[in-house]
Amino acid sequence: MLLIRTIYAGMHTQELITLSKAIDIQMESAAEELKALQAYPDEELIAIIKEVGFKCDLCARCCTQEFNDHVFLLDEDLKSVREADPNAVEPAPYYELCDQHGNFYVSGYALKTQKDGSCIFLREKRCTIYDRRPFICRLYPYMLHMEADEKGNIGWRQISGLDLHGCYHDDISDEECKTLAREIKTYEQAFLVQKIAFLEKSKQHFEKNKLKYVQSVYDREMRKFNKGGQIKVFVFFNGVFEDNNVGNNISL
Ligand code: SF4
Repeated sequence: MLLIRTIYAGMHTQELITLSKAIDIQMESAAEELKALQAYPDEELIAIIKEVGFKCDLCARCCTQEFNDHVFLLDEDLKSVREADPNAVEPAPYYELCDQHGNFYVSGYALKTQKDGSCIFLREKRCTIYDRRPFICRLYPYMLHMEADEKGNIGWRQISGLDLHGCYHDDISDEECKTLAREIKTYEQAFLVQKIAFLEKSKQHFEKNKLKYVQSVYDREMRKFNKGGQIKVFVFFNGVFEDNNVGNNISL
């Protein structure tokens, strides 16, 4: 996810833009991606799914931080995850914004991990909430979003961890490929809609409460957090911000 703070990174003082402008830039870029996503030809995605023919071999590597960093939850995922375990979620990492009082803001929740970096719901390489696992877990390893490659060129990312886990070239029926393609687009669309709504809400919230984004406060609070301190994070869920106190339990 692109961060508001990346817009500021590397700018000279005279080039600094207002937070409101920075948020507008992010919203425009997300709206453009949404349009491009809707225009992405279904046949292309279906052909990729067919060609890759991914088959899960139950290695469970996809359920670890090492492979996939974190499992981001859409609003619709959160309800069923909280029913399974109300303490299983935390603000998604890489907070987008920070105000001058040191409060962070982020567009959604993620699943917590265990000490070894595996998902909180993973036991003996099996998902304990399989029937109600988050949307992204149901689609994995397929995805469809804009991302930079190692040379910085922006293109579509369709598969995660290709050739790194699982089996390939399995025979997937045309019907299954079509269903997967439809669901992948639905997921990515919902992700972008949630991101745009978060940006809109943040813009209103910052303007209404006369808040400012201050990079030095962001860095100071992050340093505190990384040393085991507690920070406050407002997480966007169902159109409002939920207030979370987050501690990084690091043994120094
Ligand atoms: S919810 Fe289940 S499928 Fe998703 S990462 Fe966790 S253990 Fe894996």
